Amino acid sequence: MTKVIAIAHEKGGVGKTTTVINLGIGLARQGKNVLLLDADPQGDLTKCLGVKDPKALRHTIATCMDHLIAHGEEDDPPDFAYTDAIRQHDEGVDFIPANAGLAATEVTLVNSMSRETVLRQYLDVVKQEYDYVLIDCRPSLGLTVINALTAADSVIIPVQAHILAAQDMDALFKTIGRVRRQLNPRLQVDGICMTMVDARTNLARTTVKAIRENYGSLVRVFQSEIPFAIRAAEVPEKGQSIYAYDPNGRVAKAYEALTKEVMALGNREHEKAQDYHAR
Ligand code: ADP
Ligand code: MG
Repeated sequence: MTKVIAIAHEKGGVGKTTTVINLGIGLARQGKNVLLLDADPQGDLTKCLGVKDPKALRHTIATCMDHLIAHGEEDDPPDFAYTDAIRQHDEGVDFIPANAGLAATEVTLVNSMSRETVLRQYLDVVKQEYDYVLIDCRPSLGLTVINALTAADSVIIPVQAHILAAQDMDALFKTIGRVRRQLNPRLQVDGICMTMVDARTNLARTTVKAIRENYGSLVRVFQSEIPFAIRAAEVPEKGQSIYAYDPNGRVAKAYEALTKEVMALGNREHEKAQDYHAR
């Protein structure tokens, strides 16, 4: 069974893309089949995975969604291979790139028939091959993010260890609640992941404590905290994961630990489902 996880936060710069890459490649290193989906018109995930010029790509998540928007309701849609957009990264994950075309697609979505479910329709076609699909959301709560939450089984929320972070999540939780009520009742919050934690500063320690106190009773806050490290800030331009760039560093260790926590969740859910069927 495939688990689709949206990595979401309304704000930019909180570590979404970094988490998608290093959790995704972390899962692949544990033997899982993984698809990473860039759902941000900035194409950061695409660039971080080594695509030099996303503008020049012929097939992206946007072209696939455009095709579904135009022809999804037809009985006999024109030929189009939805898997054409899927690319391979040499650290063992597949990915679907994005570029600025996705911003235009979001505008088209507004007037389309099934405007919240286009991404889900797309993933229903391609996801069977994979154990995990991770969606890198754009920093907004607009229609593309609604599509991601509608397509997802769960959400992971990266939160930068910064004093304002604790106040920023209310809108996201409201949106998740709305999507769950109206579009996708199975959507769960897997948890909050603290990122860029600079353990030497009081500010970071206070924020982590505040998040654990304010949100810990409502949702899981993952035990693994991702430390702030210059090597992690350098890695985007290398087209690699942190495991390849700085294998013995603290950030690689932390993402490996997060990967194991996320896999343990999956296993528990799987066990629950088996218990249920065994009864
Ligand atoms: P988002 O996708 O939420 O905008 P990114 O993953 O792109 O966030 O991270 C924002 C910036 O912070 C990027 O330049 C990234 O390289 C850097 N960064 C991410 N994680 C870390 C970390 N653990 N330590 C230092 N810098 C980091
Ligand atoms: Mg990003």
